[in-house]
Amino acid sequence: VWRMIYERLREQYPAVTIDGWWGIADPFARMIGSVLVQNTTWTNASKALTSLLREGMLFPEAVAREIPARLIPVIHSAGFQQRKAETMIRLSAWLLDQGGVDSICSSEIQTEELRQQLLSIKGIGEETADTILAYVFLRPTISGDAYARRMHERLTGEQGRYGPIRSAMMAQLHTWDELGLLHALIVEHGKETCRKQKPHCSTCSLQTFCQHAKVTINQEKYGA
Ligand code: SF4
Repeated sequence: VWRMIYERLREQYPAVTIDGWWGIADPFARMIGSVLVQNTTWTNASKALTSLLREGMLFPEAVAREIPARLIPVIHSAGFQQRKAETMIRLSAWLLDQGGVDSICSSEIQTEELRQQLLSIKGIGEETADTILAYVFLRPTISGDAYARRMHERLTGEQGRYGPIRSAMMAQLHTWDELGLLHALIVEHGKETCRKQKPHCSTCSLQTFCQHAKVTINQEKYGA
């Protein structure tokens, strides 16, 4: 079903691309953005990234040698500054230890091993690790984040968990670019159409096989 969802969402949002959706190309900025966006919006994370850039701190050597107290005021717009500053420092130190983004991208390290390394860094959970793997190291993986879980729940009527949803998506799409685009499409869909409150089911390309649509379209028709 995820292959079909991918095709339909591509038709519904033909303008969505991985790079356009991110809005930034620099791999290290994406990595730090993946930490900053935890528990906040991309708008807030993006403001913090802009501040880091303005302060000349948006490169691994700069972040790794900082102390949290100097990073905290720079990233305050993203919230949870203490925790995020510490995570950014640990992540940057790990990246330098590995020889940097290019070195990891060209290495033969298995994706799962890389994932475990990221998960062993305090402050990096599954969603952040999978985002970094997919969009920084261009590995074939995807996040089973809240948008994916909400879509799954509405389509099937069943609750979904991060791991099984991620595995189901990866069983049907296999390349980093397809998985990366699927995630971008799911997030776009979750913001534009399958919104948390009042989803726009009547304009959704997935409505014919969506359990939740039966309820919402009837509500739209009959005001029930
Ligand atoms: S039909 Fe409605 S609930 Fe189902 S996926 Fe589309 S927007 Fe979401």
